[in-house]
This record gives sequence, C-alpha cells and structure tokens, in this order.
Amino acid sequence: MLHVIDKEYGWIEVICGSMFSGKSEELIRRLRRAQIAQQQVAIFKPAIDDRYSSSHIVSHSEQRIPSIAVQTAQEIIEKSGDAHVVGIDEVQFFGPEVIDVCEKLADAGKRVICAGLDQDYRAQPFGSVPQLLAIAESITKTLAICMCCGAPANRTQRLSKDSDQVVVGAKEIYEARCRKCYTPPAG
Ligand code: ZN
Repeated sequence: MLHVIDKEYGWIEVICGSMFSGKSEELIRRLRRAQIAQQQVAIFKPAIDDRYSSSHIVSHSEQRIPSIAVQTAQEIIEKSGDAHVVGIDEVQFFGPEVIDVCEKLADAGKRVICAGLDQDYRAQPFGSVPQLLAIAESITKTLAICMCCGAPANRTQRLSKDSDQVVVGAKEIYEARCRKCYTPPAG
C-alpha cells in the first residue's frame, strides 16, 4: 500500500471482489480518510447504478458518501477539477475508455481509487477491471462469506435466469458463493 501523499505523485488503487464483499465500504473508508486529512475528493459512479441513490455511493451496510453520477468515463476527467483524490465506484460498468481516464488522472498527480466487481455472474473477468488490475499500483481483493457454507467467497451467484451481463440488483438476485458452492449458469 502506498502512503506517500505528494502532489507530484499520482497512482491507481483497485478494490475488487464479488458482491457483498465490502468493496464500496472500503472505498468509502479510504475516501473519508482523505477528507479528514482535508484533501479534496471527487467521487463518481456510472449513471446505470441507481439501486439506492443517484447522488450517493451507498454500501450494502448503508454507509454513504455524496457522488456524481456520470454517463461516460470521460466526464470523470471533466468533472474532477482540482480534486487530489478521485474515487470511482462500480467501475466494471464503464467501457474500455475508463482505463485511459484512470491513467490520465494518475499521470496528472491524482490518487485514483476504483472499486468494482472483478468477475461477472459467469465467473468471467468483468469489463475493463482486468486491465485496471494490471496497471494499478495497489490492488485489494475483498472477500465475501459464502451464503451456502460460510467459506471465504469471491464469486457472485445470480439467482434469476437472466442472461444479460448487467442486471442491477442486490440481495434478491445475487448471493456470494465460494468456488465449491458456485454453480455456473446454464448455456
Ligand atoms: Zn461455499
């Protein structure tokens, strides 16, 4: 983990894992620490994710922090202004341009903290998250607890038969599962 805070240094941190693994909670924790240190923080999320609130990032444990909903990753550059710390939640929902956006922000000396799913409901790498993991200075994989057996879980089981990669929802549609209890969807 990087601890140096200097305007000359930018970097990329990625927090990733399955659903219910505490990714947003960890993102909120890091952003709050920066705010407490009087650092200017800008927080973004894709407009697609309005499960709980369109103006806040909200964790499953009901922690929240004000955020800006954006349609494209490019808007993050336009709207981050002078912020030294840029948080991006649900980063898997952005297109491939989010990689270049994160690189540009980090090159400009900003601390970029991305949180998102590393795998989709088929247990396949999700969107641009694999590339972000490759270029990041720091990676945190968060683990959930398997809802079947209680083992550490890093997969997301979809309980509905929907086959779209993106079906936004929470407890009624998804469960955290371990490798052993996860069942790949048919087809
Ligand atoms: Zn299990």
